[in-house]
Amino acid sequence: MMNPEEVMQKYEKYINPSSTRLFRFMGLSSIESRAEGWIITDTEGTEFIDCLGGFGMFAVGHRHPKIVEAVERELHAMPMCGKVLFNEPAALLAEKLAEITPGALQYNFFCNSGTEAVEGCLKVARLATGRKKFVAAQNAFHGKTFGSLTATGRDLYRDPFRPLLEGFTHIPFNDISALEQAVDDETAAVILEPVQGEGGINVPADGYMKRAEEIAHKHGALLIADEVQTGIGRTGKWFGVDHDGARPDLMAVAKALGGGIMPVGSVIGTEEAWQGLIEAPFLHTSTFGGGQMACAAGLATLQVIEEENLLRRSAETGAYFKRGIESIAAEFPQVIKEVRGRGMMIGMDLVKEGAGGMLMALMIDRHIIVAYTLNNPKVIRIEPPLNMPESVVDHVLDALRSSVSQVAEAIDDL
Ligand code: PLP
Repeated sequence: MMNPEEVMQKYEKYINPSSTRLFRFMGLSSIESRAEGWIITDTEGTEFIDCLGGFGMFAVGHRHPKIVEAVERELHAMPMCGKVLFNEPAALLAEKLAEITPGALQYNFFCNSGTEAVEGCLKVARLATGRKKFVAAQNAFHGKTFGSLTATGRDLYRDPFRPLLEGFTHIPFNDISALEQAVDDETAAVILEPVQGEGGINVPADGYMKRAEEIAHKHGALLIADEVQTGIGRTGKWFGVDHDGARPDLMAVAKALGGGIMPVGSVIGTEEAWQGLIEAPFLHTSTFGGGQMACAAGLATLQVIEEENLLRRSAETGAYFKRGIESIAAEFPQVIKEVRGRGMMIGMDLVKEGAGGMLMALMIDRHIIVAYTLNNPKVIRIEPPLNMPESVVDHVLDALRSSVSQVAEAIDDL
């Protein structure tokens, strides 16, 4: 086995010198070697508590035995689909997703990542409506391929790649009158995250997604719910839109759907939205999408969430976690401005950007993995496995209190 320094040198030389240096600067010098539940162990045997959950991918924790078993079964039978014959795991996962998604979502197109799921939603929306205009939110994060990047609401990521797709308008998130003004009879779809993840864990007012649905439908436009981060139990319900009783026409899911073992995404749509693809199914295809190992992982993930009551646990443990962080915020208002979140998707909005980097480094020193959100480095996000016990949460809160108090001492110099 290579020593950590050798691995980092190869990262620097063959992956990216500046990101490697940034991580080194933040004190990250461990090579991950195994993982189980909420623990990641490095090659030196040091254990880290995973409170980032791979940006929300590890809803059922690392290497959940039932998902490992389901994936192994397919591995030894036929891991990837031959693309011409039918396969059972894809049929079962599609049926299960139709059952747990709200409203009339029925048809699935399987893909391999969040950005692909969003791309699929945008294409299906154009096909269904014959329109080209989209309304998205400022600060939104929908991925980094061209279509998703156009919907993403951060110029830092978009500007180097212009020209992007035409016809996108970005309005402030959680602002119903801005949405009313932006949507018209030429709008194909409104695309929103039920809680903005990378934008800084921004929770909208109750009923926001339902109102967005009504506004879109009034103009014959579709509502696309980007549930890549909020979906599959993260916010304490199956999907973020379930908090509002909203019924999107299209939904993008990925991240947690693969149970932290396989990359799996899906574009899910109503029969009406799917008409174009029903007429011409080969307008949108994927070589890897819908493979047996991936779909078996997805199905096992949804079963584990049901069997282990992870929706309830996400809501309850998330509320417990959030209360704990709020009490730390009350003690250190000079460091934490606000705590936001739903279920196990919690963000700490810090007073300045430098405080985010320092807090992340101090937590990692204490062997707890957290990170800031991609669009908003002032927000440290907590997205642990949904089955993390309260005793572990207590340990994390103790470490957080100590780390925040250290940041408080240095705050004027940051
Ligand atoms: N949509 C949302 C809401 C996300 O949070 C992300 C990733 O963080 C994506 C899309 C893109 O997913 P991926 O990184 O799998 O392409």
